[in-house]
Amino acid sequence: MTQRRPLIAGNWKMNCLRADGLALASSLAAKASEKGDLGCDILVCPPATLLSDVVGVTHGSVVAVGGQDCHVAISGAHTGDLAAPMLTDIGAQYVLVGHSERRADHGESSTDIRKKAIAAHDAGLIAVVCVGETEEERDLGATLPVVNGQVAVSLPDGATAKNTVVAYEPVWAIGTGRTASVEEVADVHRAIRAELVKRFEDGNEFRILYGGSVKPSNAKELLGVEDVDGALVGGASLKVEDFWQIIESC
Ligand code: PEP
Repeated sequence: MTQRRPLIAGNWKMNCLRADGLALASSLAAKASEKGDLGCDILVCPPATLLSDVVGVTHGSVVAVGGQDCHVAISGAHTGDLAAPMLTDIGAQYVLVGHSERRADHGESSTDIRKKAIAAHDAGLIAVVCVGETEEERDLGATLPVVNGQVAVSLPDGATAKNTVVAYEPVWAIGTGRTASVEEVADVHRAIRAELVKRFEDGNEFRILYGGSVKPSNAKELLGVEDVDGALVGGASLKVEDFWQIIESC
């Protein structure tokens, strides 16, 4: 059986002023250095204002840093956006693309996400491609076609298990306190794995994260589901103790 190293990723979203963000990142880096290898990779995705400083305070630790989005272009007249090479330039290693909040707030389509993933790869970043159905789509019984469709369009042909991570995040479970059941998670992750294996030579090696109200109390159960290779954590990644407990649940 393929051994995939889990990834626990924290998405800070539009949270943390400088002092709080740096304190959070420094505590994580210190804990990670003190505890040694816990058998999983750790990633934090702070807001753009803190990226450089968080790279600084986590330097030399196993805590990797990622952006929350990138533009499809490498430079140009795109006020307020960040180009993927800018993330690489400051020492980020990952970038989230296609988070449901970007899809909803900025009208990003799966085609846009694919272009962003290509931009990320070209810049040497690992793209964490987020997919997930809305509550309405789940109620209509359309979860698997919706998610499979997003995976098919959002992942570029050049995706590999090394440059891409897939994050399944049911939209109705993000920030709501509601979590998908173990059965629901297992069904979708199995379907995503099948798509990846069908399309990519190394489809079995891709990490597929679950995201949606992951917290210390449910992390172990969710991370124990087959084909769940880690978690993308929003709210609970803002408290070092909570995030650390999730990391230790790997
Ligand atoms: C997220 O933003 O990706 C997320 C999963 O948020 P939360 O853990 O707060 O539901």
